[in-house]
Amino acid sequence: METKNIKAFGTEAAEAPLKTLDIKRRAVQAHDVEIEILYCGICHSDLHTARNEWHGTIYPIVPGHEIVGRVTKVGDHVKGFKVGDLAGVGCLVDSCRECEHCKNDLEQFCDEGSTQTFNSPDRHLGGQTYGGYSQSITVDESFVLHISDKLDLAAVAPLLCAGITTYSPLKHWKVGPGQKVGIVGIGGLGHMGIKIAKAMGAHVVVFTTSLSKTDDAKRLGADEVVLSTDEAQMAAYARSLNFILDCVSAEHNIDAYLNLLKVDGTLTLVGAPMDPLPVTSFSLILGRRSFSGSLIGGIAETQEMLDFCAEHNITSDVEVIGVNDVNDAYERLLKGDVKYRFVIDMASLK
Ligand SMILES: [Zn+2]
Ligand SMILES: [Zn+2]
Repeated sequence: METKNIKAFGTEAAEAPLKTLDIKRRAVQAHDVEIEILYCGICHSDLHTARNEWHGTIYPIVPGHEIVGRVTKVGDHVKGFKVGDLAGVGCLVDSCRECEHCKNDLEQFCDEGSTQTFNSPDRHLGGQTYGGYSQSITVDESFVLHISDKLDLAAVAPLLCAGITTYSPLKHWKVGPGQKVGIVGIGGLGHMGIKIAKAMGAHVVVFTTSLSKTDDAKRLGADEVVLSTDEAQMAAYARSLNFILDCVSAEHNIDAYLNLLKVDGTLTLVGAPMDPLPVTSFSLILGRRSFSGSLIGGIAETQEMLDFCAEHNITSDVEVIGVNDVNDAYERLLKGDVKYRFVIDMASLK
């Protein structure tokens, strides 16, 4: 297959800092859209994968799955995009398209394993897929999203992962007016969860371990903020919430949150702590409660989320950086030193 050489920013080893690399993209095929990448958000999974912390990283790795850009070329059979359009790519670039989940717009749960935007077997060129820390990407139009020109493009990029990761469970568990919803943790995911739950009409209660984030939580849309280390404050919320979105990736006490759910309430994990989380049976039994998880969203739902965010004027709070700041940004990300998402201005990649 014909290919095109482009510049990217990635690494050849777990211990090595990211640097400029040369990679190949496939030539545009009949159903493909070629996108010049303008902005790419930095997700925690970029860092975990670059450093092989989840194992299975194949080097060289080019991270990035919060991609916003402009269409520069389309294949002959492309119907939904034309040159000059804004376009987005999230965590998925392909899937089997045949299994029950693909047919039900749940490509993220494809039986064959969906093709991730980076570090996934490339169905066209062989080798691994390369992500959005790069000048351009070529993707089948079925996996390309339409981006509104109403919003700040850099601040839209994180919607492609952090936005859909929080929107999908809030939608699935039917969060809306008249409901009290808890959001645990205010970071890349949590700050999007607050904004989206609020826009869906819920009463939003934010749980944080850091008193200093109280004002910020309110600015983001929280109706109430609870210091989760204060037992008296936590006790006051017992059996009061319809749904809890848990955005914490570190070890934490799940029982303490399950006990805040009403009867039939659900707690959904979107953070991914590495170690098992102990759950006491009575936290579930005594209220017919559910403990669940959620993974990004399908392509149709991702488009729905982008349209919802454009309608409600929702973007991520971002710090825009140049590509040469990425290694420093990773260190700051580990310390939680960002409000609330780094986004790379890809024009800085030369
Ligand atoms: Zn992500
Ligand atoms: Zn499938």
